[in-house]
Parts: sequence; C-alpha cells; structure tokens
Amino acid sequence: MDVLTGQTADALIWNGDRVAGVATHDETVLAPVTVLAEGPAGLLSRELYARHPELRGRNLQTHGLGLKEVVEIPPNPAAVGTVLHTFGHPLGSGVYGGGFLYHVDATHVALGLALALDYRDPGISPHELFRRWKRHPLVQRHVAGGRAVEYGARLVPEGGWHSLPNFNAPGAMVIGDAAGLVDVMELKGLHLAIESGVAAADAILRGGPIRSDDIPSLAGLRRTPNYRAAFRAGLPVGMAAAGLAWLTRGLLPAGRLAQRDERTCLNPAGQAAPPAAAADQGPLDLGLDSDLFLTHLRTRVASEHIEIRDPAKCRECFRLHAAPCTRFCPANVYAIGVGETIAIRAENCVQCRCCTLKCPFDNIDWQTPRHGVGPDYRLS
Ligand SMILES: Cc1cc2nc3c(=O)[nH]c(=O)nc-3n(C[C@H](O)[C@H](O)[C@H](O)COP(=O)(O)OP(=O)(O)OC[C@H]3O[C@@H](n4cnc5c(N)ncnc54)[C@H](O)[C@@H]3O)c2cc1C
Ligand code: SF4
Ligand code: SF4
Repeated sequence: MDVLTGQTADALIWNGDRVAGVATHDETVLAPVTVLAEGPAGLLSRELYARHPELRGRNLQTHGLGLKEVVEIPPNPAAVGTVLHTFGHPLGSGVYGGGFLYHVDATHVALGLALALDYRDPGISPHELFRRWKRHPLVQRHVAGGRAVEYGARLVPEGGWHSLPNFNAPGAMVIGDAAGLVDVMELKGLHLAIESGVAAADAILRGGPIRSDDIPSLAGLRRTPNYRAAFRAGLPVGMAAAGLAWLTRGLLPAGRLAQRDERTCLNPAGQAAPPAAAADQGPLDLGLDSDLFLTHLRTRVASEHIEIRDPAKCRECFRLHAAPCTRFCPANVYAIGVGETIAIRAENCVQCRCCTLKCPFDNIDWQTPRHGVGPDYRLS
C-alpha cells in the first residue's frame, strides 16, 4: 500500500464519464475505484456530481458552519464528561443552529457554535455570534478562569436523508461528510464516516456497490428525513416538526420538504452598516485575529489558492449585500480593498470551504491548498 502524505488531490481523472483516478500537483494516481472521503463541500465531489447530476440527492445539500475553541481551565476533575448543548441563542428565530460544550478532561473544555449557512441576513458574522454565545452566563460558568488555547472552523453537512446523493458513481464512491452523511439532529457524523468507509472497503472487495443496508446508522437519518428542512419556516415550526418526526418515527411531516438554497437566499443589505470586527475583550473573548493565531496556521509564501473570478460581480455584491465574505469567513481572509474590491489574505485560510458555498455570486475560486499548509489542530 502506498500512502501519499502531504499530497492534495487537485482534480479527478476521467476516462469518458468514468472516474479513473486523481491528479495531484506532480503525480497521476490511477485506480479501478476512487473513494472520495474529502469532507463536506469537497471540490472533487462537486466535480463528480457536476458531471453526473443524476446521482445528486433529491434535495439540495445544505451546511452549517461550526466555530470551535478549546479553553484551558483551572483543574476541575469533577466536571470531566459534562456536556452542554444549546439551541437558538444568539441566532434569532430565523437561523438554525446552536452551541455545544464538552469538558474533555480536567483542564480542557471544547466549545463551539454551529449555524446554518442558509441564513438570510448578509450582516451576520458567525465569529461575532460565537463570541456572543460564549458570553452567556451558562457558558461562562464552565470556563471561568480559563483562556482559549485553540480555535478552528469547519462545515457540517445538514441536508440529511433527502439530500443524500448516490454513494456509487462510475469508477468512484463517495463516503462520510463528502456524501452528506451526518445526523444533524444529533450533530454526529463520525460514526457514519467510519461505517461508510467500512462499507466502501467491503464493496470494493466484493466487486459491487455500497448498499444502504451496509451503513447501519443510516436508519437515524431515515427516521427524521424532514428534520432540517422544517426549520426553513423558523425555529418554532421547525421544533414542532422535529418533535412530530421523532414521535412518528419519520412518518410526519409527510413527503419531502425542500431545502433553502444557501447561496442565493441572502436578502439585500439595506441600510444596515456591516458590523466591524471587534477587538479582544479578555482571554476568553478573543477577536478574530487573535483566535486565528490559535489555529497554529502553517503557511507558505506562495499559498495563493483563492481568486476572485469576476471583480465586476463584487462591485454588484457591494451594492446588493455589502460584501458578505468580509463577515462570513471565520478567518478574516476577505477584507475590503481599494474602492469596491476585495483584498484576499489567503494565508489566513482555515479551509472550512464556507466561501465556496456562501458567496452569493459563486465568485470565489477556492482550490484545496497544497503542501500541507493550513490549520494545525492539536487539541480538537
Ligand atoms: C463543530 C463540529 C462539531 C462536530 N461534533 C461532532 C461530534 O461530537 N461527534 C461526531 O460524531 N461528529 C461531529 N462532527 C462531525 C464530524 O466531524 C464529521 O462527520 C467527520 O469528521 C467526517 O469525517 P470525514 O472523514 O468524512 O471528513 P473529514 O474529517 O473532513 O476528513 C476529510 C479529510 O480530507 C482532506 N481533504 C479534503 N480535500 C482533499 C483533497 N483534495 N486532497 C487531499 N485531502 C483532502 C481534509 O483535509 C480532511 O483531512 C462535528 C462537526 C463539526 C463541524
Ligand atoms: S467575493 Fe463574493 S461575497 Fe465577496 S464581495 Fe465578491 S461577490 Fe460578494
Ligand atoms: S477563505 Fe473560505 S475556506 Fe478559507 S477560512 Fe475563509 S471561508 Fe473558510
């Protein structure tokens, strides 16, 4: 077995409409079956389903953006294993999401906020909402006397059952988050990633496709097929629908509720001024630049993996949505440049891929960075 570390798969290699392998910077890797396990909103999966739209899920895929910190606290062995999940605050009734907090050991608390990317308000800054969530007394109680020591951000697929694509394609299989395999009601995907990886390996050995029955935890998604889509109508309706789905084992609400398109759903910015990025307010309430320091970014001078496709579209976006990339990026990559332009600080990128989904004009050409650059998460 060859393990190619530090390599990025840049593109699929095609033999007609069949995947024949992947191209890296300097190598061509051919295989009878290529398994895409690249996480949420992967570029190779995007390429695959663009070529084979018939294999997409019946609903649009939709995502949440999770921001997370690890906080070092004074020793508190009695709290180890304590879990706190919150819902709603401070997102308001139109945005799906919530917080999580785990005492992972006696001196570390992992905590974060995940919010759905189908939010409509272009003024939203996920990082500022994360800070607001951390200021809640319920959260503060768990991290008193501590200091943030690590920060990160990542997408989570939220579409659920009706958004699942076909896991099998000519010459390829798609597993884990790349296939949208997350139980969003439970915010759990690791079990599905592992089960689908095992199912793919078994299928290859068998010489057949991945079968749904080979992924036992799919039953959880099947039980709540409309869970996430029901929140399109706001939190109260969504919660009522979720309760109904749970009680009736997925029979109600019946049919298939559509998801909102996370890219095109932004409202006009109106007169509201975009909120400015706020500065640090103590070791537990860090501004974005300080949080970024805690991602332990590995950078290279020539790591320019982000480009604006059409500057004219940015000018339109400034007028329509007040350049939402300057707020939604959880790593301060996009800043307002001279005139109505966007200045890019690619070296800040934590590779969450949010910008590949939320730029309303699909105007950001983001490529998976090479040479192992990016965040170096050590505790999470
Ligand atoms: C905030 C948050 C909290 C979560 N909490 C939980 C939890 O408590 N329990 C749980 O079960 N799940 C949780 N999840 C979900 C869980 O993290 C995922 O479901 C799981 O990690 C998916 O595994 P994966 O292998 O499919 O994808 P990933 O873990 O994303 O792995 C994909 C890998 O592929 C690499 N890659 C991508 N593109 C390329 C390329 N072109 N070339 C080479 N390499 C590439 C990426 O760098 C990455 O290392 C959480 C998710 C979030 C965002
Ligand atoms: S990059 Fe996208 S989100 Fe940012 S200003 Fe340009 S069009 Fe708008
Ligand atoms: S540039 Fe894009 S991928 Fe990188 S951190 Fe910002 S939103 Fe995420």
